[in-house]
Amino acid sequence: MLALQGAFALHLDALGRLGVEGLEVRTATDLAQVDALIMPGGESTTMSMLLESQQLFAPLNTAIQGGLPVFGTCAGMILLSAEILDGRSDQRCFGALDMKVRRNAYGTQIESFETDLDVAGLDEPFHAVFIRAPGVEALGPGVEVVSSHQGEPVLCRSGAVLASSFHPEVTNDDRLHRLFLETIAGA
Ligand code: GLN
Repeated sequence: MLALQGAFALHLDALGRLGVEGLEVRTATDLAQVDALIMPGGESTTMSMLLESQQLFAPLNTAIQGGLPVFGTCAGMILLSAEILDGRSDQRCFGALDMKVRRNAYGTQIESFETDLDVAGLDEPFHAVFIRAPGVEALGPGVEVVSSHQGEPVLCRSGAVLASSFHPEVTNDDRLHRLFLETIAGA
């Protein structure tokens, strides 16, 4: 669990409910101990800065390019994308998903919303909470849309990388964490 900033505690609770030990990753040494990684929501500009000041950006980039399974949620999706619109000029991303995202595409904090999504691979809809969520504006051919909202992709996968515009950790529904662990991380 990337734990530099943001909403990582509830993700750890979800992992615990699924019987998986989550380690808080803040350094390259921590990173070397994990089999898969969740990048939480929060503030992608701050996370980008902290990844660099903690000297974690380069080792994490190497790990992702090497196939580390990663689930990025909200700010985590922004970090995994290939291009950020409305970002800070010095903000970095990993290019793990061939897509462009626009920060805060669904509006400000008070325009946060909740909705039920149909998700490929889940029998029942998933209640999704969007908080200053990024919007996906362009997708490469290798990116699979696992769920969309009003025609816009909100859950995407490419290889071992999964990313959601919304926060799956704030409800007690652990199905997306399970999906990530079982079908992507091979747990
Ligand atoms: N808007 C935030 C950002 O740009 C993401 C919001 C979130 O993670 N809930 O990083």
